[in-house]
Amino acid sequence: MAHKLVDSYREKGARKKLVELLRDRGIADEKVLKAIGKVPRHYFFDETFWTQAYKDIAFPIGDGQTISQPYTVAYQTELLHIKLGDKVLEIGTGSGYQTCILLELGAKVYTIERQENLYKRTSQVLPHIGYHAEFFFGDGSKGIAEFAPYDKIIVTAGAPLVPEIMLKQLKIGGILVIPVGDENSQKMITVLRVSEKDYERISLDTFRFVPLVGEKAW
Ligand code: SAH
Repeated sequence: MAHKLVDSYREKGARKKLVELLRDRGIADEKVLKAIGKVPRHYFFDETFWTQAYKDIAFPIGDGQTISQPYTVAYQTELLHIKLGDKVLEIGTGSGYQTCILLELGAKVYTIERQENLYKRTSQVLPHIGYHAEFFFGDGSKGIAEFAPYDKIIVTAGAPLVPEIMLKQLKIGGILVIPVGDENSQKMITVLRVSEKDYERISLDTFRFVPLVGEKAW
């Protein structure tokens, strides 16, 4: 984490290029691209690595975790169709970069992380750089029943299956986006809750996430 919050023409320029790159790679939602263009991703990196911050790559952020690839963040965010004021549950806070993108889109975000160091660090860093979410420490594979139902749920770690308990925490018309597969590769799955009992599931592209570890996961 950078301690000096400097966002100069150099970083802003690099961010613009990243937005154009993501557009070329198929991200079409202008609101999502605008959010990527706003969040200072270099704040999530040690200053030594600022030159890496606007490449379309995942990067180690300490505590054995990585900040997700911008393309992946944009891809999942696009699928959520965030509307102003949406109540969103994010499972796997990690660096908090995805959280910031959701906040830029006007969502109210509840985010949970199972690694205590990461939880502590991110729940301090985000308010420091101007992003305010509700942070939780614990196993998010069960969702967070206490604050359900949610308009949207995003899982940023790879699950072996879609946890039933998460589906129950969606509002009617709500969307869950979750990568599902084995340890090596996962398909991006979106589930729309069409009624109390009915869900529509779509399977999309292949990704590689760190595993979702917990009671309803690995
Ligand atoms: N969204 C993050 C990327 C997170 S990587 C970003 O934008 O950078 C996935 C995160 O999920 C890791 O930090 C991992 O510790 C966390 N995780 C894995 N299983 C979890 C669980 N059951 N509950 C909450 N967090 C979990």
